[in-house]
Amino acid sequence: MSKEISGPRQAAYYIGMGIMAIGIITFISVFFNTPDPAQHFGSFKKEADDMSTRAITGMILVGIGAMIQTIGARGLAGSGVILDPKKARGELEPYSRMAGGMAKDALDEADIDLGGKSEQVVMVRCTKCRKLNEEDSKFCQECGEAI
Ligand SMILES: [Zn+2]
Repeated sequence: MSKEISGPRQAAYYIGMGIMAIGIITFISVFFNTPDPAQHFGSFKKEADDMSTRAITGMILVGIGAMIQTIGARGLAGSGVILDPKKARGELEPYSRMAGGMAKDALDEADIDLGGKSEQVVMVRCTKCRKLNEEDSKFCQECGEAI
């Protein structure tokens, strides 16, 4: 089982990213090319049509790009394109390991310890009634005897 994301999948990821970028640029270009009704009075309707075509094309490209990117990152089975849970697990492994690694890094950063050594609580037994009291308590919780 491969621990790394394969070359073709990496390529798909970046191709998807490229298609998304082209889609976004196509979509945004609509706002930078507003038709001037005074100059192009006759072609106003045509330009409006052209704008909506570009907006729709841009959105479709972003959608396709995002899909290819997901498939690249998670694999065909991992992203649910083909139904194969066993294969999906293998394909998702590098991805979930990456996510898990990042979560672990964040926990390390926050100084949170998952399991492992837990903080030990030291208890002190009262000499009179044998009740266990916390280490820093001055008097027994049960009988009030000084500890
Ligand atoms: Zn006591």
